[in-house]
Amino acid sequence: MKAIQIKKTGGSEVLEYGEVSNPLPGAGEALVKIEAIGVNFIDVYHRTGLYPLPLPFTPGSEAAGRVAAVGPGVTEVKEGDRVAYAMARGAYAEYACVPVRQLVTVPNEIDSRTAAATMLQGMTAHYLLKSTYPVKSGETLLIHAAAGGVGLLVCQIGKKLGARVIGTTSTAEKAALARQAGADEVILYSTQDFESEVKRLTDGKGVQVVYDSVGRDTYLKSLNCLAPRGMLVMFGQSSGAVGSFDPLLLSQHGSLFLTRPSLAHYTANAEELRWRAGELFEWIKSGALKIRIDRTYPLRDAAQAHRDLEARKTAGKVLLIP
Ligand code: NDP
Repeated sequence: MKAIQIKKTGGSEVLEYGEVSNPLPGAGEALVKIEAIGVNFIDVYHRTGLYPLPLPFTPGSEAAGRVAAVGPGVTEVKEGDRVAYAMARGAYAEYACVPVRQLVTVPNEIDSRTAAATMLQGMTAHYLLKSTYPVKSGETLLIHAAAGGVGLLVCQIGKKLGARVIGTTSTAEKAALARQAGADEVILYSTQDFESEVKRLTDGKGVQVVYDSVGRDTYLKSLNCLAPRGMLVMFGQSSGAVGSFDPLLLSQHGSLFLTRPSLAHYTANAEELRWRAGELFEWIKSGALKIRIDRTYPLRDAAQAHRDLEARKTAGKVLLIP
C-alpha cells in the first residue's frame, strides 16, 4: 500500500511518500481502509521529535473509512462498517490497524471527510468545554487561535453552552470566520494587545477561563486575562513550548488554576470516547455544529499540508485523501 514514512525527525521534507507492506490486524484490532485522514498539530510534533516516537513510523492520528478485516476475537465491528478514530498511530496511509476500542461507528448522514475532520479537534473542544473547565452559561471564555481547527469548534460549543466567547486571530479574514462560528468579540492579537483588549471587554474583571493552545507567545498574558480563581487551560504550543513554570505566578495573578490536559486522558475508555464522538455527531446531524474543511490534499502532498499548517495559512480542518 501507499503510505507516508518518517525515517528521521525534522522538517516537512522528512515526510516520504512510498510503498510499504500492508498491515495485518492483530487481536483486538480492525484493519481500516482509509477514505480521509485528519492533519493535526500533534503530527507536526511527532515529525519534529518534540513528542518522540520510535523510528521509522507512519505519522497521523486520525482518519475515517471502512473496516476491511478484523483481527482475532473482534466482535464490535465487522467488514464494511463505516468507522472513524483519533489518537491511533499510522493514519497517513491507505490502510491502518486500529484497536477497536478507539473506533466509533459513523452515522449514515455523515460522510467520511466530515467524520475524519471531527474526531480529534472535535473531541478536544468537547472535553475542554465540558470536562476540563465546564463552562457555565453567562461566563466569559477566551480562546486563542479562534479560527483554527479546535478554535472554530470551541467558539460554536461555547455559544451552545451559553458562554460569552472572546477569540483571538492573526488576520481579519480569520476573525470573520471566528465571528461566523459564534465568537462575540475577536481580537487581532497580531496588531492589538489582547490583554488590554480583554480587560476592556470585561470592564476590568477578566475571564473565567482561557483555552490557550498558542503557548510560548501568549501564556503569560493569558494569566493576566483571568479573573481571580480562573483557570488557564494550556492545551497546545503552536508558537513553541512554554518551558518551566513558577507556581507562584498562579498565586500572584489571583489564586489561579493551571492545567495541561491531553485528549488521551479525556477519552480514557471506550465509553467516554463514544459519548464525546456521539454528541458531536448528533450536533452535526442536527446542524448545531458545522465542521469547516479548509483544505484537502492528496496523501502524497502531506509535506505541503504540514507547511501550510505551520505557516498559519489554514483556518479549520486540513485533510489528506489517500
Ligand atoms: P490550528 O488550526 O489551531 O492551527 C494553529 C493556529 O495557531 C494557527 O492557525 C495560528 O492561528 C495559531 N498560531 C499562533 N502562533 C503560531 C505560530 N507561531 N505558528 C503556528 N501557528 C500559530 O491547529 P489545531 O486546531 O490542530 O491545534 C491547535 C493546538 O491545539 C495545537 O497546538 C495542538 O497541538 C493543540 N491540541 C491539543 C490537544 C490536546 O488534547 N492537548 C488536542 C488537539 C490539539 P492564528 O493565525 O489565528 O494565530
